[in-house]
Amino acid sequence: YQIAQGQAKMLSSTFDLTPGSRIALSGRGSVSFATTFLAAQILRLVVVPINPNYTERELTYILKDVRPAVFACDAIDQPNLEFITKLRFDKDPYIGPGSHLPTTNSSISLITYDEINRRGTDQSSLYEGESPYGKINVDGQTALPCSGSPSDIALCAYTSGTTGNPKGALLSHSNLISSIQGLSVAWDWKSSDRLLLTLPLFHMHGLGVGLIGSMVVGSSIVLEEKFDLEAVFSAISAHRPSLFFGVPTIYGRLVGDSRSSNFSKFRLIVSGSAPLSPQTFAKIDQVMGQPPLERYGMTETVMNTSNPFDGARKAGSVGKPLCGVSVGIDNRGEIWLKGPNIFQGYLGQEEATAKSFANGWFATGDVGRFDEDDYLIIDARLKDLIITGGFNVYPREVEDQLRALPQIAEVAVVGRQSEIWGEEVVAFIVWKSLPLKTSDLIDLLKAQLAPYKVPKDFISIDALPKNAMGKVLSKELRKMAQDI
Ligand code: ATP
Ligand code: MG
Repeated sequence: YQIAQGQAKMLSSTFDLTPGSRIALSGRGSVSFATTFLAAQILRLVVVPINPNYTERELTYILKDVRPAVFACDAIDQPNLEFITKLRFDKDPYIGPGSHLPTTNSSISLITYDEINRRGTDQSSLYEGESPYGKINVDGQTALPCSGSPSDIALCAYTSGTTGNPKGALLSHSNLISSIQGLSVAWDWKSSDRLLLTLPLFHMHGLGVGLIGSMVVGSSIVLEEKFDLEAVFSAISAHRPSLFFGVPTIYGRLVGDSRSSNFSKFRLIVSGSAPLSPQTFAKIDQVMGQPPLERYGMTETVMNTSNPFDGARKAGSVGKPLCGVSVGIDNRGEIWLKGPNIFQGYLGQEEATAKSFANGWFATGDVGRFDEDDYLIIDARLKDLIITGGFNVYPREVEDQLRALPQIAEVAVVGRQSEIWGEEVVAFIVWKSLPLKTSDLIDLLKAQLAPYKVPKDFISIDALPKNAMGKVLSKELRKMAQDI
């Protein structure tokens, strides 16, 4: 916290920053990223987490959208980020969400974390403001913003861009803190916990749940820059962490390593960001010594539901609403949410924001249902739902059947436009061994699925296209299916 205060002083004396100015933080998961994040929050800036692997085109799109005053990164020349200083944007204020944020300079200042560290530690005095998360590590005692207001915007977090262009979700301090309060109850998350965090801090899973969660709860983090099997196992023996957050691709790698039995010592292992297949769920239980706890979150809402810490953890379900969150399902099957965790709108996107809200409820774009015990099951994204000959097909149901075959490593099912059916079901398959004959595949599937759900085409592929969180990019697959 003192390091962050020194860095806050350095940032405020170097740059033209006022509360609400945006600061872009590029990086995966360094301690410097974390302290600069806290420094920015002390200054009441809006943090914009940035994936360092963005191409120039992707980065330009986001920077022109969010117009940050400062861009902090690990190194300026690798990749070459000089182009950022040449970007110019207009000073017109936003319309709609974010319109109250100050328009800062028309260009961006670049700085490295090294320089922030060096000059931040040189400061003989510390910045006087207080952290919005109260005094860090005071057992469970966290406070809402001291210098600002709970409704101030803390983050402009870009969505993963799985279904379209990423959108800047504006989240207030109270959005973030209420989500964590819900999680600390659901997971019995306490200051005595130690989180092994290998997820990137540029995404809500690593930042909102991992870093901010640990700060709000007052627990500690063993921070790994990225997921690496060797680093994970040595961190486990060196630090004895009690909590682990993973995404399905990470669990897919862990279950293939017998050393993963060491995870039985964890108090809790959590999965999210993408659907965890029942097969991987079962393997985790078998190899890692305990069932994972699956939960459902979004950039716009941090966290919505979770399987219980005490009580049944169901494979294929994301559990029950967190404390304070209401979950509704409309007649199309779309999941709607209401609660103190719901974001304030998409930066400068009045129309997209208006479309996503009705009577205080937020439309998630996910399709789901409740089971007999009121556990939520996510069937698909609305955009991935396939309507073939008037029937709805949830890709996940077909994928689960295909993935159960021992010859198949990975699978993704999408819709392809068809003159006869409107859309037809197409499966992309990554084979583990020699491919099965199409006629055999069809026979196997027909024994499990109604005929309209059985794919009309099976396309072999070396690897599925995925984004940084391991989410399958179905829009790319749809395009490939169309072009074939
Ligand atoms: P974009 O909104 O830009 O298309 P995105 O929705 O992938 O990208 P995120 O906010 O990172 O961006 O992801 C939230 C989405 O991830 C949810 O709406 C849901 O579809 C999916 N998701 C998260 N957790 C789970 C889970 N446990 N099971 C199934 N899907 C999940
Ligand atoms: Mg989304």
